[in-house]
Amino acid sequence: MRFRAICLTIYSLLWALNASALEVCGELKQGELILFKQIGAQKIILRNNLNTKEYAVASDGVVLAALHRDAPDLMNLEVLSDNAAITRYTLPITRTVWDIQRINGVTQSKVTPTSAADLKEIKREQRDLGRAITNYESGDAWREGFIVPVDGKISGNFGNQRIFNGIPKNSHSGIDIAALEGTAVKASGDGKVILSGNDYFYTGNMVIIDHGQGLQTIYAHLKEAKVKEGDRVKKGDIIGLVGKTGRATGSHLHWGASLNNVRFRPHALLEINKKKCRIIEEKH
Ligand SMILES: [Zn+2]
Repeated sequence: MRFRAICLTIYSLLWALNASALEVCGELKQGELILFKQIGAQKIILRNNLNTKEYAVASDGVVLAALHRDAPDLMNLEVLSDNAAITRYTLPITRTVWDIQRINGVTQSKVTPTSAADLKEIKREQRDLGRAITNYESGDAWREGFIVPVDGKISGNFGNQRIFNGIPKNSHSGIDIAALEGTAVKASGDGKVILSGNDYFYTGNMVIIDHGQGLQTIYAHLKEAKVKEGDRVKKGDIIGLVGKTGRATGSHLHWGASLNNVRFRPHALLEINKKKCRIIEEKH
């Protein structure tokens, strides 16, 4: 009887220890998507991800987070538990070597816009994109998993430092997949359409789908969008056609992924439910 009581005590202690342990799933590497898991976590704050962000915690303690393309070597994480305790962690982040991509033959006004009309259009695009990318839907449709939205050759990787007509510009925020004009573009996951905008200066016709917990996917340069804001979509539904609208030198899909307004490598979505997990040690 006493033996059984001791066993039960040990088991309870182990369970309590395990319940408060923080697990990280995925690679702690620049431009990657990771999952944290901690039962009882109320809030997770990731510091130094080039900004400080609070992440939504699901009822099972799962938090999604993206590591910025230029994330520093060390990142600080704070977990606020339901008993108001704060646990702090330091995460070492592996650097990624980003390629340089030279793109020539771009209409010069799309590289160095100066006309009042173009600048006004850029403002409209930034305003619409900013509104969509910082408003998050509830739910966790992302758990249904993701697919690549169109088949084709990758013509531009995530994170590339891009040089248009010899002029250095922002790094590439998504992945370019070359495909024939008119090819169907599928929703890469379940979610809600939060933007379906037309004729943007850089992105042309663009659709953004929200998958819950701050996770969104972006589809740009479409010939035509087949969905409107507010539509609910399922993974694989046709949301538009491949095109070359906006700043594009040929027909392709720009597929982007964003988590709490941090862009990451879209292919990291494909293993979202299969990432390797490990327990990480608290900072002392
Ligand atoms: Zn692109």
